Parts: sequence; structure tokens; C-alpha cells
Amino acid sequence: MDSGIRVTLVNYTKKPLETVTWAALISYWGGWESEAFQRMAGKDVEMHLPRILGYGHESILEHAVLTFAIEGCSRVCSHQLVRHRIASYTQQSQRYIKLNPEDVEETFLIPESVKQRPELYGKWKEFLRRAIELYEESYGAGVHQEDARFILPQAVRTRIVVTMNLRELKHFLGLRACERAQWEIREVAWKMLGEIAKNEELRPIIKWAKLGPRCIQLGYCPEGKLMPSGCWKRTKEKWKTLLSSKPTV
Ligand SMILES: Cc1cc2nc3c(=O)[nH]c(=O)nc-3n(C[C@H](O)[C@H](O)[C@H](O)COP(=O)(O)OP(=O)(O)OC[C@H]3O[C@@H](n4cnc5c(N)ncnc54)[C@H](O)[C@@H]3O)c2cc1C
Repeated sequence: MDSGIRVTLVNYTKKPLETVTWAALISYWGGWESEAFQRMAGKDVEMHLPRILGYGHESILEHAVLTFAIEGCSRVCSHQLVRHRIASYTQQSQRYIKLNPEDVEETFLIPESVKQRPELYGKWKEFLRRAIELYEESYGAGVHQEDARFILPQAVRTRIVVTMNLRELKHFLGLRACERAQWEIREVAWKMLGEIAKNEELRPIIKWAKLGPRCIQLGYCPEGKLMPSGCWKRTKEKWKTLLSSKPTV
């Protein structure tokens, strides 16, 4: 079932892989000069970048940043997201923007585990509807939206813009694309990966930098006994499917 969360890669460093490779070459190439950037071609990137990343020289990945729009995730998810400190965020304000709730499901994200239990689902919708009513009633009584929002549950949907450099993105995906991560932030992480996979210019970095959960990055699961049953196989297949999909941008 669709959670209604939309993730879009809206912008990224111009010539991202060329930038990273050109920056890396300053360490190794005596003939390096700033003008060499304009001469960087796909074959140079292919020749050097996988090798250098293979050495574990990951600081070069910090020279390319990606900006994503995440729309419709809950505040549960955005709170987990912003724990990742080496990134920049701008989030829809609940102080400046008054909620205009029309539909419970458009305003709140109700987990699938609840939707599968009709007796609970009904009660959730009723509770959330009541939260909206109280929000509106408070606002109508002169309580400013910055205070009226205190009545809103964490399920309330939000919009957030996140900019991460490729190194932090790798770290984020390592933790959050993992099956041990909570389902919603994991969905966001895989949607971010999907956006990169769709993009012809960026796509090779998924394989070269092993962008994905930590089992993909490390070749083993550091969660040990906490690893969910069958997870390793499922994750490898999911990652391979991502790599074999066709770029569309
Ligand atoms: C499955 C899972 C369960 C979790 N459960 C909880 C929980 O119960 N409670 C809770 O509070 N959090 C929880 N978290 C969040 C977790 O503790 C981290 O806050 C979050 O994942 C951000 O990761 P980070 O600190 O490694 O990375 P980032 O903030 O993205 O930073 C990247 C890396 O930069 C370095 N770095 C960043 N800031 C500093 C610094 N100040 N000093 C030194 N090095 C730094 C570190 O190497 C860090 O790994 C959970 C996360 C996961 C994935």
C-alpha cells in the first residue's frame, strides 16, 4: 500500500562525479590544475573513481551534494531524519503555516499495521479527526497556530528539504536503508536511492561507493544476532534490482 510519501531529487552538484574525481586527482597527479576540471570526461571518472573509493578514500565524496524534497512523511520520520547532523534541513513550519485539514489520511500518516486491523483503524481515524477538530476549535478561539499545534499527534505529515553530501548520504543510507531501521525512514532511504538510480549521471556512484544499507557496504551485517531473519538475501536482491533498473533521467 502506498504511504503517500514522495521523495524527489530536486538538485545536485553540477557534474557530480567529475567534481569528485577531479578533486581526488589533486592528491595523486603532479600535472593537476584547475583547468583539468573542464577536460574531465566519463572515461576519466570510470578509470579513477572506483579505484580511489576502493582504497576507502571517502572524503572526496564530500565535494558533491544532493538536495531532496521529502513530502508527506510524518513528524516521526522527520525527527529521525534530522538526527543526521552532517546535513542541511529546511522544514515546513507549524508556526507560520496553519494546518488546513481536509482529509484525515492526507493530514496524518496511518501505519499499515494499524490499517490491517479494522477495529483499531476506525478508532485511530476517529482520534485523529478529534485532534483536527480541537486544533481548529483552539485556533477559532484565538489560540495561535504555534500553540494549537501542540494537540497534533506525531503522525501529522510534513514536508522537508534535505541536502547531504555523498559521504553523509552513504552513512545515512547505511543506517536507514537497513531492515533494522523503522519502516518509514527506511522507505524514505530507499526512495532516495531510487531517485539516484533513475539518474544516469549519478547512478554509477551507487555501485562504486556502495550506497545502500551497511550489509551492502561492508559485506556482512554488523547487527549480528539482531539481524531480521532472511534480511541479507532480501536486501541483496533489492539492491541488485535497483542496479538493474533503467535510468529515466
Ligand atoms: C536502528 C536505529 C535505532 C535507533 N534508536 C535510537 C534510540 O533509541 N534513541 C536515540 O536517541 N537515537 C536512536 N537512533 C539514532 C542514532 O543514535 C543516531 O542519532 C542517528 O542514527 C544519527 O547517526 P550518526 O550520529 O551516526 O550520524 P550523523 O549525525 O549523520 O553523523 C555522521 C557521522 O559523523 C560523525 N559525527 C557527527 N557528529 C559528531 C560529533 N558531535 N562528534 C563526533 N563525531 C560526530 C560520526 O562519525 C557520525 O557517525 C537510532 C538509529 C537507528 C539507525
